[in-house]
Amino acid sequence: MNKDELLKEYVETFGEKGQDVFFSPGRINVIGEHTDYNGGHVFPAAISLGVYGVYGPRDDKKVRLFSGNVNGNIVEFDIDDTTVEKGERFWANYFKGMITYLREKYDNIDHGFNLYIKANLPSGSGLSSSAAIEMLMGIILKDEFKLDVDRVNLAKMGQRTENEFVGLNSGIMDQFACIMGKKDSAIFLDCNTLEYEYLPLELGNYEIIIMATNKPHTLADSAYNDRVRECHDALTKLQEKLDIKALGELDNDTFDEYSYLINDKTELKRARHAVSENQRAIRATKAMKDGDLEKIGRLINASHISLHYDYEVTGKELDTLAEASWKQDGVLGARMIGGGFGGSAIAIVKKDKAEEFKKNVGKTYRDKIGYDASFYDAEIVDGSKMI
Ligand code: ADP
Ligand code: MG
Repeated sequence: MNKDELLKEYVETFGEKGQDVFFSPGRINVIGEHTDYNGGHVFPAAISLGVYGVYGPRDDKKVRLFSGNVNGNIVEFDIDDTTVEKGERFWANYFKGMITYLREKYDNIDHGFNLYIKANLPSGSGLSSSAAIEMLMGIILKDEFKLDVDRVNLAKMGQRTENEFVGLNSGIMDQFACIMGKKDSAIFLDCNTLEYEYLPLELGNYEIIIMATNKPHTLADSAYNDRVRECHDALTKLQEKLDIKALGELDNDTFDEYSYLINDKTELKRARHAVSENQRAIRATKAMKDGDLEKIGRLINASHISLHYDYEVTGKELDTLAEASWKQDGVLGARMIGGGFGGSAIAIVKKDKAEEFKKNVGKTYRDKIGYDASFYDAEIVDGSKMI
């Protein structure tokens, strides 16, 4: 998407010139799924698919938003309006939350603005378009109003937006990856302490291929909140004997030893995933430092299996993508990413096998599911910024 085109679309929308253009990336996650809200580790990276925004200041207190991806009108509200939007205007909540939380801290956000947004990132596809637009709003307000807020705090406000304006009890991974991303690196993040480390994604002859299921209408949000609650209930039972604040503090052996406290089959499976997935993320990043790509691939496959059997968030679309990927030549590993049920998967594939891979997996998917999956080769890029 080019800057001139975006500026032109801004003029067509608002009838005047826009001032600055920003980009905020989506994300993938190499390993560590559903571990962020369990105080475990994740290993995400920002991608070159994302959301662009053209900003123009206003003299009054109105915010006027237009999305080039939504069939609808300009959404307008006052900067001091903190009510949660419903219905057609729901997407404005991602912006409204960020404005609300930043204005709580910075009273110099004293005038409104127009904002034109356009994404080349499919929305609802597990690549975190929601965090991309939250962090877009965050970086715009930070830069335009010269706020001294740091990026990690923007991520925290994005998580709060998701929790309180959208109603999804998600962790901090998505926002952290979008705003803290670094070109050609993934972020090894401890979601308990927010300590992090950039690790170059050195894949040699291999590349990461993103596969979107294109599954329509998933009911992922309520299932997501169920998982959060089930893990919390399991944690409470373990706390009868263990002095821990999060499942992410446990290694596999300690969890096994105390698992008798969790007298509920579902909670046991959810907690087992949270613990084992965190350990896999730690092992995979160690393997990355050792250059052991095959081991990373096996851990990625094991992650999918655990998300299927223990966490039960895959579904036939994601299973078809992962299982078809595992059968192809030159594949190190494949798994679902994001919340699950629909959304996307990733595969690590030998570069010279990539075309054949897409053809074969694409065909298996169409035959089994009845419509096409989409394949994306994204680059790993820096976090949200003015362009
Ligand atoms: P994901 O974050 O995996 O893409 P979510 O369900 O968390 O999926 O977020 C998708 C929602 O974010 C959409 O339903 C919409 O409300 C909002 N959204 C995403 N991209 C855009 C966009 N380009 N324009 C307007 N709203 C968007
Ligand atoms: Mg999201």
